[in-house]
Amino acid sequence: MVFENGIMNRYFFTVSGIKVRVALKDVKHLYIKVDRNGDSVHVTAPSHYSSGQIESFVAERIPWIEQQLHRIKEGRAFRSRNAIVHGAVHNVMGVPFKLRINEVPGGTRPSLEKRGKELHLEVPLCSDQRLLRKLMAKLHRIEMKRQVPSMICRWEEIMGVRVSDFRVRKMKTLWGSCNPEAGRIWLNLELSLRPIELLECVLVHEMVHLLEPSHNRRFKSLMKQFIPDYQRRDRELETVPLGYFS
Ligand SMILES: [Zn+2]
Repeated sequence: MVFENGIMNRYFFTVSGIKVRVALKDVKHLYIKVDRNGDSVHVTAPSHYSSGQIESFVAERIPWIEQQLHRIKEGRAFRSRNAIVHGAVHNVMGVPFKLRINEVPGGTRPSLEKRGKELHLEVPLCSDQRLLRKLMAKLHRIEMKRQVPSMICRWEEIMGVRVSDFRVRKMKTLWGSCNPEAGRIWLNLELSLRPIELLECVLVHEMVHLLEPSHNRRFKSLMKQFIPDYQRRDRELETVPLGYFS
């Protein structure tokens, strides 16, 4: 155990090669969080917890921590494979576009425009990926909002249900969600980076919840009826990390 800055209520230790930073505070429960950089774990614990208690708590959660670290690493790899660089190909709603990036010295208002089969970005010199992804997120949101309603209409007819509200959201852990009582469906913005068949599968999944709220046998047989290969598509989605736009 090493104290940071000589302050007694903050220290760190290492377990299974993972750096764990501990902060003792006036809290009721212990919280554990994997740093978004994927290089350490943060624990906030009630002041009276001993270091032994905290260490065994963390040790029990090693599989979960490793899973989170893996997810962060995959996310980073996905972002670098899909880096927004001049000449690269970027998919929007299943359509590939070639990126044209124009870096303008001095102050310029960042912009992104669709021109035929190309996406034109005009950004200040040395703009980082975060800014470029932010611009891209805006475009993806517009495209999803433009294209998904007609998909909903088509499936409403097939399924005999009615979606009263549809929204696009950035979600860290879910591809979609449904509030059956309100008839509201939320889709993850990142679906617009994937092949349309995956977006459609999530949409149908959420719409099936309007017929069957839980993931029971009836739900699965309805899914199979509407999308016979839905399990393959689900598996494909599972292999894709989330967090591109966040
Ligand atoms: Zn579900």
